[in-house]
Amino acid sequence: MTDSPPRAWAEIDLSALRQNLRIARERSGQDVMAVIKGGAYGHGLLKVAQLFDEEKLPFLGVANAGEARKLFEGGIQTQPYILGATLPAEREEITARRWTPCLCSFEELEHFNQLGRTNPVRAHLSLDTGMGRGGFLPEQLGAALDKLRSSSGIQLTGIGSHLPVADEDSAFTKSQFELFDSLVESIPRQPDHFHIHLSNSAGLLNYQSRTTNMARPGLLLYGISPIKEHQSLLDPVMSLKSRVSVINNLPKGHGVSYGRTLLKRDTKAAVLGLGYGDGYPRSLSAKGTQILLNGTLCPLLGRVTMDQIIVDVTDLPQCQPGDEAILFGKDLLVTGIAEKAGTIAWEILTQITPRVARVYL
Ligand SMILES: *Cc1c(COP(=O)(O)O)cnc(C)c1O
Repeated sequence: MTDSPPRAWAEIDLSALRQNLRIARERSGQDVMAVIKGGAYGHGLLKVAQLFDEEKLPFLGVANAGEARKLFEGGIQTQPYILGATLPAEREEITARRWTPCLCSFEELEHFNQLGRTNPVRAHLSLDTGMGRGGFLPEQLGAALDKLRSSSGIQLTGIGSHLPVADEDSAFTKSQFELFDSLVESIPRQPDHFHIHLSNSAGLLNYQSRTTNMARPGLLLYGISPIKEHQSLLDPVMSLKSRVSVINNLPKGHGVSYGRTLLKRDTKAAVLGLGYGDGYPRSLSAKGTQILLNGTLCPLLGRVTMDQIIVDVTDLPQCQPGDEAILFGKDLLVTGIAEKAGTIAWEILTQITPRVARVYL
């Protein structure tokens, strides 16, 4: 007996991932910290980490100690960088395993200084230049550096900040780059190999800094640009797929799915084995969403259910049970699907559920 194939799967094109990293390196001309939080944006934390491990990056950006631990247990050699403030209960493990946190407050700084007494923690300083999610305010930088000078439990190895509107507001983002650069330039005696970083994907694609030597892209590594004009530079990595289980010939006026959306014509309706239980958002219902079947865009019919959706294939006479459907991928961008669902590509990608098999190409 062989195992049944999955009804819904996500194909992950690893050569596209590598190619997008190459673009990130070329375009920034800097070191790249690959951001792989959120299970590598739904692409599978370890598989993606293994590929980036071969690329000899300075850091892999993760959300918390749990994700860093998965890298450790998976034998990943690249240094985990914990994006964002740490919880007190995470700090002992971070210190013991020599992961790199970013210090976001005096409380964190003091705690890590104690924990690092015998074995100093290598840490970056996080500046809040507009994100409001943690980090020292510009006017606190001097005091933080003073404190660090007398904190032998911490070895400062970098400094960073984050961009809240790099894909929306270029005037603010330009002023943020200027502020960050001037703050960095005001720091006396920077150590060798000091990492200075500000850009996410949108920052890397659209802005220049005088001081940074590393970028922290996430989304663009997965082949999706936060800025439409740059999409053609990138190669989408994930394709979400499913299959037709049955085709029903339904008369005009018949209802389809929960809520009974009434058919406006006699309809050939194909059922696919995927729904919101796989992370295909229910909010795509009644939004003019399309699905690629046999190379043709076909309309979604009625509401998305937990395990199945219904697609209008009236104009696809050849369509049969077993045919493969693409929910998003290279020719149907997740960005457009996210827009219809009233959200962003980051959320769609990270919410593809564990039930969806990840198939690595
Ligand atoms: C998530 C995150 C990134 C990556 O953002 P993208 O927009 O996906 O490139 C970079 N830096 C920090 C601090 C983050 O939290």
